[in-house]
Amino acid sequence: MTALPVREPATTIPPPEPAPEPAPEIVLAGCGLRGMGLLTAMPALLDHRLTVVDAGPRPGPGAFPDHRIQSNSAGADFFGWVDPAGPFGPVLDDPAVRRLREHQGAFDLALLAGALDRFGDRLAALLPPDRLIRGDPLVHVTVEGEAIALTLASGRRIDTRALVLALGITEPAHAALAPWADRTIPSGRIVRDHLAALPPVPADRPARIVIAGGSHSAYSAALVLADAVDAGRLSAEVTILHRGPARLFYPNMDAHAAEPHGPLEALPDPARDICPETGQIFRYSGLRHRARALFREIAQGGRQGFTQRQIPAIDDAAALLDQADLIVQALGYRSRRLAMTVDGRPWDPAGGRPVVRPEPDGRIPLPAGARAQIFVMGMDPYPYDDGALTPTGQYALRGGQILAALARPPVAGQPPTDIPLAEPG
Ligand SMILES: Cc1cc2nc3c(=O)[nH]c(=O)nc-3n(C[C@H](O)[C@H](O)[C@H](O)COP(=O)(O)OP(=O)(O)OC[C@H]3O[C@@H](n4cnc5c(N)ncnc54)[C@H](O)[C@@H]3O)c2cc1C
Repeated sequence: MTALPVREPATTIPPPEPAPEPAPEIVLAGCGLRGMGLLTAMPALLDHRLTVVDAGPRPGPGAFPDHRIQSNSAGADFFGWVDPAGPFGPVLDDPAVRRLREHQGAFDLALLAGALDRFGDRLAALLPPDRLIRGDPLVHVTVEGEAIALTLASGRRIDTRALVLALGITEPAHAALAPWADRTIPSGRIVRDHLAALPPVPADRPARIVIAGGSHSAYSAALVLADAVDAGRLSAEVTILHRGPARLFYPNMDAHAAEPHGPLEALPDPARDICPETGQIFRYSGLRHRARALFREIAQGGRQGFTQRQIPAIDDAAALLDQADLIVQALGYRSRRLAMTVDGRPWDPAGGRPVVRPEPDGRIPLPAGARAQIFVMGMDPYPYDDGALTPTGQYALRGGQILAALARPPVAGQPPTDIPLAEPG
């Protein structure tokens, strides 16, 4: 007798559900230069359960692919904070990173975007895939006591012990230019799109263009226009309106003494504006390279069709603005905002100011009594509020502050599970 084969039942038992992933300890929201600077200066953050959320398609380059201009920094300013023996060390040998760091003088910001891209690739290799979320912006932060709950645009919810905001900056329409809003564009548009950002210009006379502002973004826009004039692609009369004197970079006080200084140029305050580390004047905030050269050329009357005017307030140039074909707003940037609710109430960590100013411990300002671990990578240029001299120090300092906060035991019941889903802002 042959035994009949025993048939398996038609239905198979489903494999057991994988255990739910533990909530992250840290979420980094935004991974451009500053988010990447934080992780590459303090890679110990990756030893904690770290999730990175970025609105863009890849971590690393941030806004730099949109800056189709030359840098106001030097290539060697970047990635000196990376430990060659650490997890990001091998990226220092990447040709794109070496080209940036060894470059002398001004460079196309595309070079920096490319180097940041390489660090983004390395980050993607170091993080488990489900801990790198791309193309899904953070839209709402809910804080209850120490508990932080995040809502992404897709509706996904993430609870975390600590949050780091590194969302970059925006250039919203400025109220002072509201009467001329129909002919005003932000400087970032020219920096990104060059002449394609301009409306149709008159064929029978030079276009009257006013740049409102006298900072690096104003002179970046002015350079795009000057290059187009030189190439015969634009006929324009350009006026640059300075609300205050312009800061120019000098390698040292001797170089400063050797050059003439016009009334539009800021005089350095030795106590505040000379870097104690390098002796450089206006080390990070001063106009440099071609922007600086254009400032001086116009100030000395050497660039036909380009003029500078100092005005106490935008309204003082109303007649000029009335006649302009195009106004380029270069009046500064502000921190990118998120909808945030703290203990049931809407909260603006910038307190109505343009930029979120961190507390001395690196956290964002919160209402009295709130204790959530929310940090911000919102650094103003040198001199930094918290005494550090270089971006290197800033990234590592903030990383140390975050690690110190994580070392403190969480209060009972963390992370939260019962926070109501907030309305996306
Ligand atoms: C015209 C111009 C020229 C400049 N030139 C220089 C220069 O030469 N050298 C220099 O050091 N700096 C320069 N800067 C400053 C430069 O923009 C900043 O140094 C740099 O981009 C700041 O990096 P960041 O990481 O703060 O912001 P970003 O580079 O803007 O990165 C922010 C990241 O956050 C992500 N993000 C935004 N919103 C969300 C969200 N809701 N959820 C999740 N992710 C989000 C974005 O996708 C992006 O990846 C220049 C700025 C301008 C405007």
